[in-house]
Amino acid sequence: MPRIDPRRHEADHRDDAVERFGADGLPRRDPHKEKNQRLRRELRTHSAIRIGQNARRPAAAQRIVLADDVSWIIVVSLSEEPWPDAERELLGAAHTVADEIGGGVVLVRVGFLDPATDLGQIGADRTVLLPLMTDPNALAAHVAAVIERFKACHVFFGEGGADADVARRTAILLGERPATSLHLLSSERATFQEAGGRTEVSRPLPKVATLASGRFDAYESGIAREGRRIEIELNAPAPGVRDLGVVITSQADAPLNEARFIVSAGDGVTDWEAFRGVTEALGGTIAGSRQVVDAGHLPRHRQVGASGTLVEARCYLAFGISGAPQHLQGVQRCRHVIAVNTDLHAAMVKRADLAIIADAQQVMPALTRLAGGHVDA
Ligand SMILES: Cc1cc2nc3c(=O)[nH]c(=O)nc-3n(C[C@H](O)[C@H](O)[C@H](O)COP(=O)(O)OP(=O)(O)OC[C@H]3O[C@@H](n4cnc5c(N)ncnc54)[C@H](O)[C@@H]3O)c2cc1C
Repeated sequence: MPRIDPRRHEADHRDDAVERFGADGLPRRDPHKEKNQRLRRELRTHSAIRIGQNARRPAAAQRIVLADDVSWIIVVSLSEEPWPDAERELLGAAHTVADEIGGGVVLVRVGFLDPATDLGQIGADRTVLLPLMTDPNALAAHVAAVIERFKACHVFFGEGGADADVARRTAILLGERPATSLHLLSSERATFQEAGGRTEVSRPLPKVATLASGRFDAYESGIAREGRRIEIELNAPAPGVRDLGVVITSQADAPLNEARFIVSAGDGVTDWEAFRGVTEALGGTIAGSRQVVDAGHLPRHRQVGASGTLVEARCYLAFGISGAPQHLQGVQRCRHVIAVNTDLHAAMVKRADLAIIADAQQVMPALTRLAGGHVDA
């Protein structure tokens, strides 16, 4: 009978337990094992993969090559940078879904595709280049054509600026209800936060979705995808959509929910010409309190507050606004608030990071002059 050393036996078992379970009692993850499992799954799923049978590590030239008839997930990027982080995250997120359904990922880029850039390295199985166009409706129509060409199950966009706008237009064209700002997803469910960020909502993954940035890992399997460029014949945009070229609009009239710098007027503003002048000179976006909207000085969509728009500007400059709770609710996500008010004790002054206790009618032209703008004598 072999002799058993009880201390050694106990130590062996202890090590074993520590290896399999972390300090929190949960099973430990083995990233190497997971990566190998994933590669094996890909090899099983796609007969067209060309990887040396005996190779322990794939050589740089080896790639995953998918057949044309797999299920496709499309990622759309309007970025002009060669490899932006947001695009890598989209591709990584798309692969988590594609892996579950045994599919591949098509990267659709708009206007720019550097021939020297190997998009297979960041996870593109196929790439499509769409021409640069200024009309978002035409772009959405072209994206819809690519979706149709690949019979894609899902299409993902970034949530921000023009990408998010084209996402919504594409969804309308397809008659789909998009899910926006996803921060978790699987092939079946999409999770996002409701406006205000407090409630988490989960629903079946729809055809069109936008993904929150910084929430998904980039594609990293250690092996590049094919990245093959596909040419698609695109029809002219549908009748009724006219490309009017680039239209230069004033920052003053930008939508409030996108504005980075807002100049807002309350009942303490009486010189409306000076108000518009200072907003233009500072490159801000016009807004106001409900009081001035009710009085007809500004249109309803310019109202900030609980019953108007909740704004998230970097800087909110308030002229003659008292800071009623309903108004302050609208500016709570602004990073910096500046108040110009004659009343030192106004709630807006208390909320502000910087306050000017003075008549708005005098401060507005003074600021316009400082910013190099024109002031009528
Ligand atoms: C259900 C409900 C929803 C509402 N929703 C909103 C909303 O979404 N948004 C909103 O804004 N309000 C909303 N209100 C209205 C809100 O309660 C206030 O009445 C409103 O915000 C006040 O607007 P104001 O600050 O421009 O005017 P006022 O309260 O009259 O304040 C004017 C300010 O200007 C200052 N001032 C006066 N003269 C000068 C001068 N020459 N120079 C500098 N400062 C001067 C005064 O000291 C004062 O602080 C809502 C109210 C209700 C009941």
